[in-house]
Amino acid sequence: MKKIKLAVLMLCVLCLFAASAAAQQPAWTYPIKATTLDDKTGLLVLANTTSLIPEDYVPYHLVNTYLRATNAGMQLRQEAADALKRMFEDATSAGYTLYIKSAYRSYQTQNTMYQNRLEKYNKDDGVVAAPGTSDHQTGLAVDILNYAWTQQDGMRPEFSQTAEAQWMAENCAKYGFILRYMEDKQEITGIIFEPWHFRYVGEEVAAYMMENHLSLEEFTAEYQQAIASFEQAGGDFKAYVKAQRELPPPIIISGDEEGESEVSLFYQTP
Ligand SMILES: [Zn+2]
Repeated sequence: MKKIKLAVLMLCVLCLFAASAAAQQPAWTYPIKATTLDDKTGLLVLANTTSLIPEDYVPYHLVNTYLRATNAGMQLRQEAADALKRMFEDATSAGYTLYIKSAYRSYQTQNTMYQNRLEKYNKDDGVVAAPGTSDHQTGLAVDILNYAWTQQDGMRPEFSQTAEAQWMAENCAKYGFILRYMEDKQEITGIIFEPWHFRYVGEEVAAYMMENHLSLEEFTAEYQQAIASFEQAGGDFKAYVKAQRELPPPIIISGDEEGESEVSLFYQTP
């Protein structure tokens, strides 16, 4: 019994140490959790003409989506595939039938598409992204159409006028997706308005981005600035994130072998 109380006391002391180490850091005031922005799982990866994905980059845990699609074998990262499945199911309940037009594309596939387009038009007309710059190489991006548009050759911004596109724009964030290429962000993204292109970033970030109408380029710049400001104020971002990860939610231990109704609240050490 005494030993248990001593152990609990020591754990509390350890927690105080951890808490005081964290307290030396400036306050984290940015609306997104620091652990999310540390992006251990790569959900915030940015692919564009100034932030290229390496040729040998293969997204973590690609899976077949097995969702309604124009072609078989549409792959996404597991998290994105799971979220998309829920989005497709809820769309169906709302009366909309969605189709995947395109999902993960490897560097090699993107390169072939790009070279074909170059050959056809003798110039880079901006329609097909150069290899290394496509959001589809992240395994987190998906093009989604309704039936009528799967029957057309090519995708155009007018798809935004369909009920399916409007439902997706309104609801995508609930599933962790953002509209990656918005109409009034073309100058920033360097890509035309693509009401069919959705990108998984996780629910916390998607809700914030859609609410604040941010492109991934703007969000990236904004959170990198938040980290820089934190460090300018004397913080150590990596250490702060590490401390956050090491403090799991408190657990409640009640009673002991003698049946006392004593309740101790403490943090479990990692
Ligand atoms: Zn796309």
